[in-house]
Amino acid sequence: TERIRLILGDQLNPSHSWYRSVDPGTLYLIAELKQETGYVKHHIQKICAFFCAMAGFANALKTAGHQVLHLTLDDTHAYESLPPLINDILTFTGAGGFEFQRPDEYRLKQQLETMQLPDGVSRTIWDSEHFLLPFDELNHYFKAGTAHRMETFYRKMRRRYELLMNGDEPEGGQWNYDANNREKLSQQEIEALPEPLCFANDVTDIKARLDKHKVEYFGSYHSALLWPVTRQQGLQLLDYFCQQLLPKFGRFQDAMTCQSETKWSLYHCRLSFAMNAKLLHPKQVIDAAITAYRQADGAITFAQVEGFVRQILGWREYVRGIYWLNMPQYAEKNALNGHRTLPKYFWDGETQMRCMRESLGQSLEYAYGHHIQRLMVIGNFALITGMDPDLVDAWYLGVYIDAIEWVEMPNTRGMSQFADGGLLASKPYAASGNYINKMSDYCANCHYQVKQKTGSKACPFNALYWHFMNEHRDRIARNPRIGMVYRNWDKMSDENRTAILSQAGTYLADLDSL
Ligand code: FAD
Ligand code: SF4
Repeated sequence: TERIRLILGDQLNPSHSWYRSVDPGTLYLIAELKQETGYVKHHIQKICAFFCAMAGFANALKTAGHQVLHLTLDDTHAYESLPPLINDILTFTGAGGFEFQRPDEYRLKQQLETMQLPDGVSRTIWDSEHFLLPFDELNHYFKAGTAHRMETFYRKMRRRYELLMNGDEPEGGQWNYDANNREKLSQQEIEALPEPLCFANDVTDIKARLDKHKVEYFGSYHSALLWPVTRQQGLQLLDYFCQQLLPKFGRFQDAMTCQSETKWSLYHCRLSFAMNAKLLHPKQVIDAAITAYRQADGAITFAQVEGFVRQILGWREYVRGIYWLNMPQYAEKNALNGHRTLPKYFWDGETQMRCMRESLGQSLEYAYGHHIQRLMVIGNFALITGMDPDLVDAWYLGVYIDAIEWVEMPNTRGMSQFADGGLLASKPYAASGNYINKMSDYCANCHYQVKQKTGSKACPFNALYWHFMNEHRDRIARNPRIGMVYRNWDKMSDENRTAILSQAGTYLADLDSL
């Protein structure tokens, strides 16, 4: 063996230039590791999905004629971390070169770039060939410690990659059609919701190995894993999205319903795991959606496809830039001094707040919540109750199928907790029960009363929202977009304001009981 090439669990990109030719001197290493199961407590489906996708990828490489060493926890359990394992393999095989693709997580990048290798072994770092924006050009678009706005970045990306453009002008005349995308689901629309396309990947062996090696996990276990774990399954899901879901993607992007036990992902694509594990390339997904739009002959409106492209070409690439230009300091940021611990319902979903029960319950059942559940229900609750961003980050990194730090942390610590003080978003995404009521049918089915701010049945989001806004007034009121909110607060009588703050105090004193 001349060289060892390490493939991490989120680097399962079958189109990488590594695989263009078969070289008997190259040994590809894919390893299940305690280090990767243990850096936070994970949802069982997340571990199963990565391990299952890694095994499938190893088999596909073998079938294509490559030399592959696929190690399971049975082989690697004695290694607490990756460097000693790599060193032992390098020594054992006598390989003179160690190669890897630049990890997307700061922790792993540091580890692989700085680890000691046996004498005489060279280290070569490759690009992962996944993102649209090259890693070395991120600093042309982002500056450390500086506030950025997604919309500005997104326009540059549309121009640079000539996507949905008419020459130099945006197709349709407008850059962003978000204003058309804020509909609530009517009863008729709820009935018309399609069911998610689910796979049935057998993960019983993986679960047995996790138990044998005492790996800690949480969330519901399904022996038939429903997530796509091969490129082929990813493509099937992409096709399903383009045909069945794209026509209403944007319209109901922010909607939520508790009448969706079997239809839990609404019109969302659920491709985040396939993309984040690099089974699918983001450009491939964008191109498929644009093609479906063009072929639909008017049956899909422009706002739907623009909204979808914006998520991937805009948001996904944007959060990556914020992450890399600000790490490792970003992981320490706590601009609003959050310090509370997560209530127990984050782990079991047992709460009387219907919106939280549905959003947490679904996250625990499927390792999935869609954007508005993550941002405006769970994240909003953590924000207005002043949770410790380290704990919030760890929970998000553990629970979601698609959670990898480069995308999880800017979304959680930045967008949803405002702990970065506004590097990523212009204002905190704090909202009272009114917003949740506008976008869902949760409130109609809740123990609490969404219209009430005080009293034993008052919706906790109301008093907690005002408590948060009042507590952080100095910082938040500087934002001209929020001035109006404080005018409303100031218009209330002293008595009212005191009663609301006292109600919030009662809730904050015992969050577990909500
Ligand atoms: P859809 O709603 O169908 O969107 C299409 C695609 O757009 C997604 O697959 C994703 O690749 C991309 N996208 C949309 N919004 C974002 C965004 N804000 N940032 C990056 N990509 C985006 N996404 C992750 O991939 N991993 C995470 O760990 C993660 N954590 C989040 C934590 C919080 C607090 C919030 C508010 C959002 C988080 N997101 C994360 C972003 C987004 O919620 C998920 O990408 C999305 O819900 C995945 O489901 P989907 O594939 O059905 O997405
Ligand atoms: Fe959530 Fe309040 Fe509505 Fe209940 S009333 S579902 S707690 S927003």
